[in-house]
Amino acid sequence: MTEITGTGIGQGVAIGPVVRMAERLPEPADAPSALAAAHEGERARSALSAVAAELQRRGGAAGGAAEGVLEAQAMMAEDPSLFELVVARLATGATAERAVFEAFDSYREVLAGMGGYLGERAADLDDVSQRVIAELMHVPAPGVPDPGHPYVLVAHDLAPADTATLDLARVLALVTAEGGPTSHTAILAREKSLVAVVGAADAARLADGDTVVVDAAHGLVIASPSEETVSAARARIAERAAQAAAPLTPGALADGTPVPLLANLGSADGAAEAVQLGAEGVGLFRTEFLFLDAEVAPSVREQEAEYTRLLTAFPGRKVVVRVLDAGADKPLAFVNDAPEANPALGLRGIRALRSAEAVLRDQLTALAAADAATDAELQVMAPMIATVEETRYFTTLARELGIAVAGVMVETPSAALIADRVLAVADFASIGTNDLTQYTMAADRLLGTVAELQDPWHPAVLRLIAEVGAAGAAQGKPVGICGEAAADPLLAVVLVGLGATSLSMSASALADVRASLKRFSTADARALAQAALDAEGAAAARTAAESAAAEIVARRGAGG
Ligand code: PEP
Ligand code: MG
Repeated sequence: MTEITGTGIGQGVAIGPVVRMAERLPEPADAPSALAAAHEGERARSALSAVAAELQRRGGAAGGAAEGVLEAQAMMAEDPSLFELVVARLATGATAERAVFEAFDSYREVLAGMGGYLGERAADLDDVSQRVIAELMHVPAPGVPDPGHPYVLVAHDLAPADTATLDLARVLALVTAEGGPTSHTAILAREKSLVAVVGAADAARLADGDTVVVDAAHGLVIASPSEETVSAARARIAERAAQAAAPLTPGALADGTPVPLLANLGSADGAAEAVQLGAEGVGLFRTEFLFLDAEVAPSVREQEAEYTRLLTAFPGRKVVVRVLDAGADKPLAFVNDAPEANPALGLRGIRALRSAEAVLRDQLTALAAADAATDAELQVMAPMIATVEETRYFTTLARELGIAVAGVMVETPSAALIADRVLAVADFASIGTNDLTQYTMAADRLLGTVAELQDPWHPAVLRLIAEVGAAGAAQGKPVGICGEAAADPLLAVVLVGLGATSLSMSASALADVRASLKRFSTADARALAQAALDAEGAAAARTAAESAAAEIVARRGAGG
């Protein structure tokens, strides 16, 4: 057996034969063109438009989050500033193929230099470039293979165009050498509930036809697996299928203690699916996702329409909307206009909104109006709170503008350490474990090089969560979790043991977490939490919780 490690997306397991994705096209030769620059220019223009049209077509066929990603790619192909770069290269006598190659390269550098969300999208340009060059060479674009049977797709990385159009009846799992937990491949895999391990640097060692077990829960790809590994994987596949088919009961522990299971959404488009997967409401609506491309602040009316659409999907249910978390990895043109050396430590979240208070006022006004027009139980919270004073500022303004329930996100160690004082002012707290981990471990959540430190199992993070849990319990105020940590079935139990009263996650994770909670009582959850808190580091905390969980399950099996 050979084990390859990477970042697992979700909890799935799959077994199947490897089919590798076609290699990239060779770099076009840097030789002078035999054709006139104007002729090459025409060839380049029509290849760029053909690729843009094809990406649009694929986007329309795929729908959902993929549509936006593919449309953005199509726009890149048609960007006039890119074409200007092509023309400049052609003027030096380059072929259309070479000019396109070089133009995309420098365009990519510009985008990468912008950092944040746009920087992450820079990688998408490579795919557009390859497609345009293939079009010019009259060869098929590198893309997803179709061997005619189910398979595990292994690729260097997957372009959005490929991920969006994967035939889910054929692709059992996806393994990529590149990509982190927030890459587009990971985002789309999560949305499609595709078993995936990304950033598996050694994936190149897997050959066509190898049988592999892909274990997303442990971030493992096992080549030439033993009989035992295969049968354990089969058992887990069967167990997960049974979980997915289980009735959609409300989230609860084995002793009946309710733990509402909510969905994280970035647009009302995902609402119907979340309801279908048993979401009992929304624990985090990321409003900034609605306006990432907006140059000017959205109007109250425009926002009201979006929020009404969301709230209408959850009559009688709790819907927690977060006001704009602009800045750092999600800059908004109409809020963040000054460049910063360390944007994650700068004007982000509530700090940015305070510096643009009119935007915050408009958003709260639109939310209050949408609430009045619908039957959902709206709650509103502010991101990146670090002080009691910020808490007071936000909750006072929110109430003044007609928001009945106003809370805060706990994403900074500061807010966690003074949670008792913060909760004396706010109606509830929701812990954003992605940022809380980033700031506690001083490890950039977008950087693959420090991904190991970005682990919410770290006892330093768990201790902070325990502080918030204790403050919530003492004051009878709800403490939700809405970071990725809530989607890890075992960590979810630990979080409840630390005092979380609800869990919010991508809808595709709900079934696994629902099943995991049902296996443990409140006392068990506390015991698992203590085992994790007592550990020395993140890996040890996970192992300690796993052992404690196995003991509890064994004891119960033996009737103890
Ligand atoms: C978090 O930080 O955990 C969170 C839920 O917010 P976001 O991921 O949008 O920053
Ligand atoms: Mg956050």
